[in-house]
Amino acid sequence: MSSMEESAPHFETIAVRTQSERSPHREHSTPVFLTSSFVFEDTEQARALFNDEIPGNIYTRFSNPNNNEFVEKICQMEGAEDGISTASGMSAIFTTFMGLLKQGDHVLASRSVFGSTHSMLSLLLPKFGISFDYADINKPEEWEAGIKPNTRIVYIETPSNPALDIIDMQWLGDICKKKNALFIVDNCFCTPYLQQPMKYGAVISIHSATKFIDGQGRTIGGVVVGNKELIKEIRFFSRHSGPALSPFNAWILSKSLETLAVRMDRHCESALKLAEYLETHPEIVHVKYPHLKSHPQYALAKKQMSQGGGVVTFEVKGGLERGRKFLNELKMFSLTANLGDTRTTATHPASTTHCKLTEEDRLRVGITPGLVRISVGLEHIEDIKADIIQALEKTKS
Ligand SMILES: *Cc1c(COP(=O)(O)O)cnc(C)c1O
Repeated sequence: MSSMEESAPHFETIAVRTQSERSPHREHSTPVFLTSSFVFEDTEQARALFNDEIPGNIYTRFSNPNNNEFVEKICQMEGAEDGISTASGMSAIFTTFMGLLKQGDHVLASRSVFGSTHSMLSLLLPKFGISFDYADINKPEEWEAGIKPNTRIVYIETPSNPALDIIDMQWLGDICKKKNALFIVDNCFCTPYLQQPMKYGAVISIHSATKFIDGQGRTIGGVVVGNKELIKEIRFFSRHSGPALSPFNAWILSKSLETLAVRMDRHCESALKLAEYLETHPEIVHVKYPHLKSHPQYALAKKQMSQGGGVVTFEVKGGLERGRKFLNELKMFSLTANLGDTRTTATHPASTTHCKLTEEDRLRVGITPGLVRISVGLEHIEDIKADIIQALEKTKS
């Protein structure tokens, strides 16, 4: 046996070397399998495939070599047994809910989940007789008390967006186990490189691959990985309702994973440098970043996340008006709602992504009027700093 076979390969090696079987063309890099269906050798093989007696591709709505390769990498990276890929992060979340929930079930979710996840919980799932409640990240007592006899899923994101609050996954995972609820984590902010929720008792981990996994702002995609039995139920819903990821996008995302570790290292290194610098700037009231010593949950962030991630938030002096003016003065940064791109992006949550919340609800999830969210890109750190400095200078009162 070679040493590769003796020990499990490292993250970077999984990312690069997990590859679908070579075709007779002997390609080095996995090609795109743009085919809607796959041929059977004979009727017996067709029968066995349809009856799940042998593994293999039948139709791209069910599986495809590009999708399989992408999912296989994420499974290995997260320590998951099985998974599926979907057309977007939201379809990954919806497919998970529809696969695992039924009429009469209840979901306990973090109040700080992604905007469309809020809409799904509050406006879509109730149409199917599924109820929900929120618990506050910073009020641990609300979680155990919030799990009812019919609570099937406990659903969180950590760190939260944009407040960057951290949930102790080991603690919540233990509660879920005791109460017999499925602990599900949207791990999009961290990617499998920084955090593996399954280590802390999560049974499912979900990603919007649109963010750091693609990392280059090119495509929408999603992935769900976790416990084999649960994935079976989720796959059933996906196979018969059709939120499949296109093979072309799966190919892009699998290629993206080859560089995820080196990209995340730089995102995180620059984000930490930026956060440390901004803490010293007189025009900034407050900076938040998980691996900044001043973060209220610094020790927990250090335990759960191998690095602090690519997102930094800060509050500029002068509140809402100054915050918006500041963003307008940024020259290089892109004003966009997206994050996890090679390009640094800036968002003003109070007037954009979270504008539909009341002021009171915004404050409950940590969104102050002057809060700015930066997704630190792969430009040189000095250019990133310089853009912020000049915009702060120009908007000084
Ligand atoms: C963007 C995002 C989603 C939704 O993903 P899409 O790919 O846009 O559908 C879900 N959760 C989190 C945390 C996100 O940032």
